[in-house]
Amino acid sequence: NLTNAALLARRQAAIPRGVGHSHAIFIAKGENAEIWDVEGRRFIDFAGGIAVLNTGHRHPAVIQAVKDQLDKYTHTCFQVLAYEPYVELAERINAKAPGDFAKKTLFLTTGSEAVENAIKIARASTRRSGVICFSGGYHGRTLLTLAMTGKVVPYKAGFGPFPAEIFHATFPNALHGVTVDDSMASIETIFKNDIEPSRVAAIIIEPVQGEGGFVVAPPEMLQRLRALCDAHGILMICDEVQTGAGRTGTWFAVEQSGVAPDLITMAKSMAGGFPISAVVGRAEVMDAAAPGGLGGTYAGSPIACAAALAVLDVFEKENLLERSRNVGERLTSALKAMAARHACIGDVRGMGAMVAIELFKNGDVKQPDADLAKRITAEATARGLILLTCGTYGNVIRILVPLTASDAVLDEGLGIMADCFDAVA
Ligand code: PMP
Repeated sequence: NLTNAALLARRQAAIPRGVGHSHAIFIAKGENAEIWDVEGRRFIDFAGGIAVLNTGHRHPAVIQAVKDQLDKYTHTCFQVLAYEPYVELAERINAKAPGDFAKKTLFLTTGSEAVENAIKIARASTRRSGVICFSGGYHGRTLLTLAMTGKVVPYKAGFGPFPAEIFHATFPNALHGVTVDDSMASIETIFKNDIEPSRVAAIIIEPVQGEGGFVVAPPEMLQRLRALCDAHGILMICDEVQTGAGRTGTWFAVEQSGVAPDLITMAKSMAGGFPISAVVGRAEVMDAAAPGGLGGTYAGSPIACAAALAVLDVFEKENLLERSRNVGERLTSALKAMAARHACIGDVRGMGAMVAIELFKNGDVKQPDADLAKRITAEATARGLILLTCGTYGNVIRILVPLTASDAVLDEGLGIMADCFDAVA
């Protein structure tokens, strides 16, 4: 019989340690917001991989669509032999992206690849090279996206040198005293110190930083970035790999600011657990790369396209955008009740069902408490709840529970969280 301990030993012997692990648990089966490990223990899943399961583990409609696709064909490489699901998915995502202009969509396999391609397209379109990103931002693990990621340990350390022409502005963070004015001024500083605006191809921002700690960019920030980009002919890119696919209560988080970026990247939850990512944007910008300049062997795999089309249907049939807002309210009110009892919870924040708490020693925002975040997540695992941390200081606990989770399962998970704080904090 398999045990988690025996599998962990095999994992350690066979797989490089650079592939970290949050939990020493090996899954045997997953269903909606619950998983069972190889020892038969049940857990509630508040992580969904990392933000991949907005429609839950193995949503029946997604699984059926994949099974149907498996019976027809599984691979051709879209550049070699095209297929309709790719085209239909592009049409439906084009219709969903904000902005009163024609759009086109390109499919890739991972979030990192979507970001890489957005930058390639922005450079081809503007014939400029500079890229401005934000402190604390996360854009991936490939070398270009690592250069863009705004956190050294553990992501960048030891992996340089990185591609040139990437600059970091300061992400706004009211809790830590960084205003939108400060953030916009940090871009002007880059224009002064590092690169003239006429050489900048794109500014890329996560509407809500994911790995960076669920830090919400105020709508004003996105509006001012749009105006700045327009003033200098710079393309605005929103990285919605984590915020997209309905997590924040709208299909794209940026919709809530009224801003239409030139390009948007998405991945993770768009296909309910199957690997696919996308760049959607202004048609003429998307067309800047010459034929043969974009693509990939597995990019836009028919199996993943079928899954993604099913996810779009599930969002409509099950009203999951509204559900996302309801889940967000339910999570936020329960977490606020925990915060009222525990001073260490210094902030409860988020957008829609993308919700997190930030932990501090004695509630002092100058003393991030990563150790407590670790102890709470370990206690949660022991009590049957999968939680994830994030944040520049590792002191944020984030919730990315499936939007399809029942209220009973949500409340059970939140109850376990409350018990963990009572036991450990
Ligand atoms: N951008 C953002 C905002 C992300 O959250 C992530 C993944 N955490 C990525 C890009 C990279 O995606 P992937 O791991 O699929 O390459």
